[in-house]
Amino acid sequence: MKKKYLITGGAGFIGSALVRNLVKSGQQVLNCDKLTYSGDLSTLKEVSDKTNYSFFKEDIINKKKISKILNNFKPDVVINLAAETHVDRSIENPEVFIKTNIIGTYNLLVECNKYFSNSAKKNSFKFIQVSTDEVFGSLGNKGTFNEQSAYDPSSPYSASKASADHLVKAWNKTYNFPSIITNCSNNYGPFQFPEKLIPLIILNAVQEKNLPVYGKGLQVRDWLHVDDHARALKCVAEKGVPGETYSIGGSNEIKNIDLVKKICLILQKIKPPKSIQNYQELITLVEDRPGHDFRYAISNKKIKKKLRWIPKVDFNVGLEKTIVWYLQNLAWCKKILDKKKYKLQRLGIIKNG
Ligand code: NAD
Repeated sequence: MKKKYLITGGAGFIGSALVRNLVKSGQQVLNCDKLTYSGDLSTLKEVSDKTNYSFFKEDIINKKKISKILNNFKPDVVINLAAETHVDRSIENPEVFIKTNIIGTYNLLVECNKYFSNSAKKNSFKFIQVSTDEVFGSLGNKGTFNEQSAYDPSSPYSASKASADHLVKAWNKTYNFPSIITNCSNNYGPFQFPEKLIPLIILNAVQEKNLPVYGKGLQVRDWLHVDDHARALKCVAEKGVPGETYSIGGSNEIKNIDLVKKICLILQKIKPPKSIQNYQELITLVEDRPGHDFRYAISNKKIKKKLRWIPKVDFNVGLEKTIVWYLQNLAWCKKILDKKKYKLQRLGIIKNG
């Protein structure tokens, strides 16, 4: 059955993949995004002229406007992806993370709860909070996080996401608000803002600039293709049970240094360097990030079993396609970096959280 989805943060990396998926599958989608430095409507070019898609530029902090949007659009499902997301930025300037990720989520909960209580859709309404495995802190060499893992965030970013998750849980327990939390591992794919590890390495490499890697690059991350995450969120919206949490992992663990070497090898094959022999010569170990978590890995057992979701994109295939996408979209990267007056010198700093 076709549903009405209000997606917040739908112009960002994961939000836009979700909006593209939902619009193409015929759902009615309203995308509400503040268009911060990391949000850009060009991510939605493929679907922006469709009659089942509309856009509203707004900040989730603005309660009055959020209330209006809810009461005019009357969504069946709200999925919150509006957030500040870059760990390094959260270390330099945590305030905006507190505002958007905590106060913004609180405001959404308050307004969605009012809307839900008075709505004819009361029995079917769902609110989905898109969260991260970073809220659980750092894993040792073995095991994985899952739905029972204790919260232990390390960075201002992960602490702000953890706070939001606690608010969402409290709204479910206290007000019987039909909320669901998803905690996902690191995403990769097209349209990721080029400050994050994978696009940063690709862009620096093709310019034959240093490839900065924190510490010795031994930190381990679990990668999931953004289209698989979008499919998981749609699945949770359709079949997820209010009050539940779903962990979403890609089962693709790799050390940062090995990931950077893998990108170098793929680039070496498809776009050999001009003035050096080998892209790997550019790898530069830099001082580690404070509070850098050693390992993240998250189980996907529950979502596989209960909701019948499985990741479909093979990591090697998805990574090569992502590299090709960035090579073909260098103009997009330049445009969003220029448009957002993004300071190019920041590209010396990487995120792998
Ligand atoms: P992103 O930075 O690419 O996009 C965030 C979007 O939110 C942007 O379009 C931005 O304009 C919008 N936004 C920011 N503040 C806003 C506000 N106050 N009001 C309205 N819109 C606002 O981030 P992403 O990587 O797409 O992440 C989306 C969500 O998924 C976040 O909640 C993040 O914590 C979570 N998540 C991300 C990853 C990952 O690997 N990228 C993994 C797990 C979970």
